[in-house]
Amino acid sequence: MRHWTATTLAKLARKASRAAGKKGTDLPGQVARKLDKNILRNLATKVDDIVFISGTNGKTTTSNLIGYTLKENNIEIIHNNEGANMAAGITSAFILQNNQNTKIAIIEIDEGSIPRVLNEVTPTMMVFTNFFRDQMDRFGEIDIMVNNIAQAISNKGIKLLLNADDPFVSRLKIASDNVLYYGMQKHVHEFEQSTMNESKYCPNCGRLLHYDYIHYNQIGHYHCECGFKREQPKYEVTNFNLSPFIDMEVNNAKFDMKIAGDFNAYNALAAYSVLKELGLSDDSIRNGFESYTSHNGRMQYFKNNQKEAMINLAKNPAGMNSSLSVGEQIEGNKVYLLSLNDNAADGRDTSWIYDADFEKLSRQSIEVIIVTGTRAEELHLRLKLAEVDVPVIVEKDIYKATALSMNYNSFTVAIPNYTSLSPMLDQLNRSFKEDK
Ligand SMILES: [Zn+2]
Repeated sequence: MRHWTATTLAKLARKASRAAGKKGTDLPGQVARKLDKNILRNLATKVDDIVFISGTNGKTTTSNLIGYTLKENNIEIIHNNEGANMAAGITSAFILQNNQNTKIAIIEIDEGSIPRVLNEVTPTMMVFTNFFRDQMDRFGEIDIMVNNIAQAISNKGIKLLLNADDPFVSRLKIASDNVLYYGMQKHVHEFEQSTMNESKYCPNCGRLLHYDYIHYNQIGHYHCECGFKREQPKYEVTNFNLSPFIDMEVNNAKFDMKIAGDFNAYNALAAYSVLKELGLSDDSIRNGFESYTSHNGRMQYFKNNQKEAMINLAKNPAGMNSSLSVGEQIEGNKVYLLSLNDNAADGRDTSWIYDADFEKLSRQSIEVIIVTGTRAEELHLRLKLAEVDVPVIVEKDIYKATALSMNYNSFTVAIPNYTSLSPMLDQLNRSFKEDK
């Protein structure tokens, strides 16, 4: 009775919260947990496989990639895909998505919530991406956090999937007898070096770690005099290119993905490891991996029978330069769709475009450049100064400009600034849907 009441009230709470215009992913769980403190514990017993995904960076991408791939293979899941990754949000997911057929839960969990949630739920599998210090954290706090996590998960028979290349993550092997690793071979890819300087001390004995190879930060191939070392991965990336999306080979399976950013290759690898351990074949995984893309206008990919496009937000010179470099990596002719608005949210001063390297465009093969937004003319002028010698169309209406780009067969590279993003994304979604 108590359980029924808690669930019903939780669903009502979601309705009320949605009516008030909020997403309401935490609220139903909060309400239910107040009424029935065992609700998560009870609901979790009805699911066969519970996978927890945690770590500092990449847990949302990893968990979404796993969730998406399972759904593409018609497997029903419970999934907290809105990033509600603490006790209340996780409880919400179990309440709102539970039905008789759902046997798998894919749950992103905040590192700090692990001890609390593990008191109520024992996952069958946990995958960890990496551990980095947040900027505010003091030295040594990672060690404390890793030890807390190890304590919370130890002796529960949880299968651990660990990033072999991150010494902080692989330290968690002390917490289970059932451990397997994923990692990347040396030299498969030259990573962008992050500016964060991570300590490279052995989490076992505190000595300085020896590195044979570093991918980035503390992620690489390491060993220590005390015997602590990178373990041999069961799932290993043997080939990896960005073009501009991730193209990678795990063991012998190739994946031509539609997500960008080299750090995401680790997230894809983590997701692959989970899916293999859940019993999926490489072909089933490919179903999801080769069509998954972002949905927020950051390196988002579009495709139909006639046309391909990608959109990437750029609101400062660095963002613009990296978006223009992405264009360089796309083979063949291109259509550029550039938008500059000067609304309050964009900052009224648009002179930053003079610090961006539009000269890059004069070295690419381009069919046409369409400039749009309230400051379209200024973009046009900037292109003239860069001596980009291709046809330029000025169309201030972002919807019309975006629709116009569909008339060309070349790959569209769409680069909006902040308030241009939403109209451009709307129109791309619409155009690619219509022509499907
Ligand atoms: Zn050591």
